[in-house]
Amino acid sequence: MYNSIFFLILIIPVTGFLLERYLEHLNNRMWSDTLPAKLKGICDEEEYRKTQLYERDNKRLSFWSSSFNLAVILIMIIAGGFSLVDNLARSLSMNLVAISLIFFGIIGFASDVINIPFSWYDTFVIEKKYGFNTMTIRTFITDHIKSWFIAIIVGIPVLGLITWFYYKTGPGFWLYAWALITLFSIFINLFYSELIVPLFNKQKPLEEGSLRDKIKDFAAKSVFKLKNIYVIDGSKRSTKANAYFSGFGPKKRIVLYDTLPKELTEEEIVAVLAHEIGHYRKKHVLFTLLFSFLLTGLMLFLFSLVVDSPGLSKAMGAEGPSFHLGLIVFGILYSPLSLLIGLGFNYISRKNEFAADKFVRQNFKPEILADALKKLSVKNLSNMMPHPAYVFFHYSHPPLLQRLEKLE
Ligand SMILES: [Zn+2]
Repeated sequence: MYNSIFFLILIIPVTGFLLERYLEHLNNRMWSDTLPAKLKGICDEEEYRKTQLYERDNKRLSFWSSSFNLAVILIMIIAGGFSLVDNLARSLSMNLVAISLIFFGIIGFASDVINIPFSWYDTFVIEKKYGFNTMTIRTFITDHIKSWFIAIIVGIPVLGLITWFYYKTGPGFWLYAWALITLFSIFINLFYSELIVPLFNKQKPLEEGSLRDKIKDFAAKSVFKLKNIYVIDGSKRSTKANAYFSGFGPKKRIVLYDTLPKELTEEEIVAVLAHEIGHYRKKHVLFTLLFSFLLTGLMLFLFSLVVDSPGLSKAMGAEGPSFHLGLIVFGILYSPLSLLIGLGFNYISRKNEFAADKFVRQNFKPEILADALKKLSVKNLSNMMPHPAYVFFHYSHPPLLQRLEKLE
């Protein structure tokens, strides 16, 4: 059990935890008691104070939840908890695929359940305190049940097939797994709005009227084929406003939260959508998708190189090698690489945000987008003064001030 992999899978999560605490510490040092000069004209003293309090409450919760999760992982590894679950799964079935599914089912369900108190606290204490939460306890519970249902419907065939490929095809299994995951994600991308969203929200086409006309006008002007504009009842869970695109090709649709028209003028909404159309026109959506397919392939390939080495399962205290224990250990060993890839991904994403903003500058009114971004940042209590190192690690979007600067 105490091989070098055993020590690596203890050191890696601890290091990640410490790095995160250090980045948060840097972020906290950006706080000030008075409104920073750069934010004058964007928010007032009181609003600025509120963003800091909100940030502080969120960071405190994330500290407790990540400390707790780190402790659970370390105890599971040191005390041999994963191999205990492995033994339990083996006592329930003789079928190798079924054993893996039972194993992942138990681990997945348990890790969701032990985190419910944190998400409860987030929703019904923090979000409520700042006037964001509109979710009832009933919705909170049914949301969880529905997400377990989806995990079962999706997890059994996908994980089951991947495990089956492994036992059937040997070292080449990663290619089949890659093809399966790629096809599956294309399918989800296309039918997300029809299959997943209706389980959680009601959506209806945006009513005829001036907002619809303005959006269609702009789409027509920028040669963007758009038939589907929907409104979703986001107000069922939160007062925070949002809008997104989903699908691609003829299936693409714009979805506006019903909270958005309460916060922004019609022209500001068009500006936000113009930014999204910019992402499409500059092919960011396509490239992001291709990039993530390549990364999935890389990860599966690396996994296929080590999956059969007995050291992985041994580090978890198991006697023989097993696919699912190997996958858990690999997941931890892979996380430093995944962090590096995430850095690259965020860097590209921030560049893409500027490019989409530039599209608005060239095709619409940048000052209107600037107004919309300011309003949304203040309304959602976003941290408007993050530390550059924190941004480098975590932000997929540039901070507000940088975007405003470039929009001018
Ligand atoms: Zn964007």
